[in-house]
Amino acid sequence: MTDAAITLDGITKRYGETLAVDRVSFAVRPGEFFGLLGPNGAGKTTLVEIVEGLRRADSGSVTVLGRPPWPRDPGLLRRVGVQTQASAFFTRTTAAEHLDTVAALYGLPRGAGAAGLELVGLGDKAGTRVDNLSGGQRQRLAIATALVHDPELIFLDEPTAALDTEARRALWEVLRGLKSQGRTVFYTTHHMDEAQALCDRVAILSHGRLAALDSPGNLIRSLKAPTLLSVPADQVSVGVAAVLDGVDRAWVDGTEVVVETRSAGRVLAALDGIGGLDAVRTRNATLEDAYLALTGAEEPA
Ligand code: ADP
Repeated sequence: MTDAAITLDGITKRYGETLAVDRVSFAVRPGEFFGLLGPNGAGKTTLVEIVEGLRRADSGSVTVLGRPPWPRDPGLLRRVGVQTQASAFFTRTTAAEHLDTVAALYGLPRGAGAAGLELVGLGDKAGTRVDNLSGGQRQRLAIATALVHDPELIFLDEPTAALDTEARRALWEVLRGLKSQGRTVFYTTHHMDEAQALCDRVAILSHGRLAALDSPGNLIRSLKAPTLLSVPADQVSVGVAAVLDGVDRAWVDGTEVVVETRSAGRVLAALDGIGGLDAVRTRNATLEDAYLALTGAEEPA
């Protein structure tokens, strides 16, 4: 496991009587897009801060790129990028000036800032004052700030919080780009659709404990949840649908007949022979369903 990007072994942290993180162990592989999920109070922030070297665990051990993050290790800081929700920018600077200033702090040559803006799709905002950027643009600038020194490992905390759908999707492309460059991404999010779309694996924390760790696909499959097929009621009657081979249950919902099945292929073939499939909608289980099952039906916070 010495090749892992991050290892946690038996990490425990208490605040007085509160057991915030309870014997959490896992490893993040190099190049992995790794998600950390859990309801409010599950211990995510505490755990991330321990990995980032901002907090010290009561017990257990952590390594980041093979080294302990605590006490602060300047050699490690250069190899790691951190974007937090409370990102601060240099005031009265343009986007390019801000990034150039950060780059100078790392002793990087001039021009690193401009390259960083291109990376997050802000190339045309180089001359725009930071105060005049939109919320989404500021979030992208925060990511560029975390990336300016070309870190191998990047921590992103809710980078799409408060973005509209279009800006979120644009940022997804940026994040996929980071992964395709071989960087390791440690990602905290409350958006299950986002974790499902982006993450290779997710760890789900619940009450300080690791409740699950797997790929979104495996977590969804392990639910063994049925598929729901919605068919316009004028295409099939609920009585006919209910007795098709492979159907567990069927009921009427407004103008549709909803069919529950664990043999979707077989049932779809039968429905195709009855009224065609053009208007049939399919709903499979999602990561959110798996998350709700694993965290005791707490809403994503
Ligand atoms: P999350 O990020 O998943 O919301 P946190 O790590 O912030 O979870 O919190 C985990 C638990 O530890 C919560 O019960 C929270 O109230 C408690 N906690 C977090 N930070 C502190 C602190 N500085 N002092 C005391 N309790 C804390």
